[in-house]
Amino acid sequence: MNSSDTSNNRSCFRFLMKPLDLGFTQLRNRCIMGSMHTGLEEQWFRFSRLAKFYEERASAGVALIVTGGISPTFSGRLSPFASQFNCLLQVGKHRKLVQAVHKHEAKICLQILHAGRYAYHPFAVAPSAIKSPISPYTPKALSDKQIRKLIKAYAKTASLAKRAGYDGVEIMGSEGYLINEFVCSNTNQRQDAWGGSFENRIRFSLEIIQAVRRAVGEDFIIIYRLSMLDLHRDGSSWPEVVQHARAVEQAGATIINTGIGWHEVRIPTIASVVPEAAFTWVTNKLRQMVSIPLITSNRINSPEIAEHCLQNGDADLVSMARPFLADSQFVEKAGNNQSHLINKCIACNQGCLDRVFKGKRATCMVNPRAGYEEDFPLTRVAYAKTIIVVGLGVAGLACAYHAALRGHHVIAYDESDPGGQFNLASKIPGKEVYQDTVRYYEAQLARLDVEVHRNEKVGFEDLREVYADAIVLATGVHPRRPAIEGIDHFSVMDYETAIKNRADLKERVAIIGAGGIGFDVAEMLIHKNNAADSEDWFSVWGVDKQYRHRGALLEHEAEIKSDRVVYLLQRKNEKHGKHLARTTGWIRRLTLRKAGVKMLNDLSYERIDDYGLHIIHHGKKEILAVDHVIICAGQESENSLYKKLSGLGQTVHIIGGAKKAAELDAETAIREGMTLAYSF
Ligand code: NAP
Repeated sequence: MNSSDTSNNRSCFRFLMKPLDLGFTQLRNRCIMGSMHTGLEEQWFRFSRLAKFYEERASAGVALIVTGGISPTFSGRLSPFASQFNCLLQVGKHRKLVQAVHKHEAKICLQILHAGRYAYHPFAVAPSAIKSPISPYTPKALSDKQIRKLIKAYAKTASLAKRAGYDGVEIMGSEGYLINEFVCSNTNQRQDAWGGSFENRIRFSLEIIQAVRRAVGEDFIIIYRLSMLDLHRDGSSWPEVVQHARAVEQAGATIINTGIGWHEVRIPTIASVVPEAAFTWVTNKLRQMVSIPLITSNRINSPEIAEHCLQNGDADLVSMARPFLADSQFVEKAGNNQSHLINKCIACNQGCLDRVFKGKRATCMVNPRAGYEEDFPLTRVAYAKTIIVVGLGVAGLACAYHAALRGHHVIAYDESDPGGQFNLASKIPGKEVYQDTVRYYEAQLARLDVEVHRNEKVGFEDLREVYADAIVLATGVHPRRPAIEGIDHFSVMDYETAIKNRADLKERVAIIGAGGIGFDVAEMLIHKNNAADSEDWFSVWGVDKQYRHRGALLEHEAEIKSDRVVYLLQRKNEKHGKHLARTTGWIRRLTLRKAGVKMLNDLSYERIDDYGLHIIHHGKKEILAVDHVIICAGQESENSLYKKLSGLGQTVHIIGGAKKAAELDAETAIREGMTLAYSF
């Protein structure tokens, strides 16, 4: 089959056609908003917020939206209070979501997700009673009768979805959830008709699709999310994936979506360290084997990448999820050839997944309006004020942008180039995309005629009598300088200096402080180049693009070859990176381990001299003979202007790191900037 063939048998397009004139020729009508759990699905009284969230994206050109995962039964809920759809009474609230989307001629599919052994409650069920390494609960093995009942429950949810007006459903069959657990032999050790041979193990998925098709009729989309790469040793082999995909097509699915990796697998699949469009090759490989349309996904965050995947024939449709959190107008801007105005997802997970795992509503670090559209409407003020913003790190940029967007006259200053800590972060391998956030804000400030004064330092005398309705101080932070004997030794430098002078750093380095920035600096030191070489990336994480073994794993993972000896030090007697983000902290720890970084804890610093760094480690004296000691010991607020200006009659606000340096993260800084702008 011609890989770019999108005709007859790939007939999903009759469902997706929308009268849009998108500049990206292939992206036209072929871009869908993938399933994302927002935390708004749980309570009926939040459905108006969810409707607003979907509507804003539908009105800006998304052809098809897939909802967050909703369980067909109580046992399948992700957590005890997670969402479930299996009763007629719930149809009304879903209809509101559907209507909000249909108003704009977009389509919407309900994702049916049974969590299986990933259900975070004691009622979890699975094919066999085998606990997942990422859940404290051992699931109960389903009986034959319960399995048959469960299949009917999927069909019932699908028919309720149809009644609510949904255009289709997505059946979640990947990422290690229930259906995937049936397919793989390590989680399915049954001896009956649902276990044993591969044919038996895929029976559950096929009977679900058949039952759903019978319940909803022909004119209804069924997307099946197939695990194309399990990324674990007992995962499916390539011939099995193909066999399963063909059977899924036969069973009545309309479209197959790409699922990559089980949640419990320690291989990153969506974090910023993953090369862009890293897994579209597997969709392409499968596309030669089936006739129904395929969707590709994972680390696709710009119209250019999406367009490239489609032009390359990797897939019939491209799914993006987090990029629609970052920018609700992604498709519209792509259509207007305004890619530079798109707020790109930087795959940090901080505002979305990390918050959802804490039971909070998902939003987006670079777009804190996401999920909060009702609280921060896109309306203009009746009376424009003059706002001066001092400091254009991300807090200042967000404040200046939202104030200008609301119609205020904004004048902004930065003593160097806008971007602040994001400029430093973007120099770290795997975080290059952070520069896009700065690029986005700068482009928006230019569009909104914000007066930006770069490389211009403003001081107390400049501000004390200036005319403004409000002065916003977003003056950021400076690195903390700990009181260690010898801190002025020539071998010592702060992280800013180290990042800016990376090329001059020698082989042996000790890093004082193992917070987010200590980890960043360690990663910078172990990588030779900035741009991730994607082939290296696959071998380091053990992914086999030839798919020679089960789960697409290499027999051995490659080490990260580093010419440097790096020590990452902390005084606390606890695991390194314990306080890093949940969904990415493990990647960062594992990366440093793969490169042989020496992580020492439970220590104190004695002094720094010509011999190196003297420490007391587990009660014993040691000398780390290093060329450099890099200080990553946190920050202190740059708030002297605020102290001087307060009480002089001006309306002065302070935000971001300037307000609170300890534990400040970019998510809080950007949110503070936006929230303040809405108060003007
Ligand atoms: P941090 O997370 O507060 O870590 C500071 C480190 O310095 C700690 O390991 C601390 O450990 C050590 N330390 C503190 N005071 C010290 C002193 N007086 N002498 C010696 N060591 C000292 O700060 P950060 O690494 O600068 O990060 C700042 C913020 O940026 C964090 O809140 C983080 O959220 C954010 N960030 C996040 C990421 C990310 O990947 N998500 C990346 C970069 C930054 P001990 O006290 O045990 O020695």
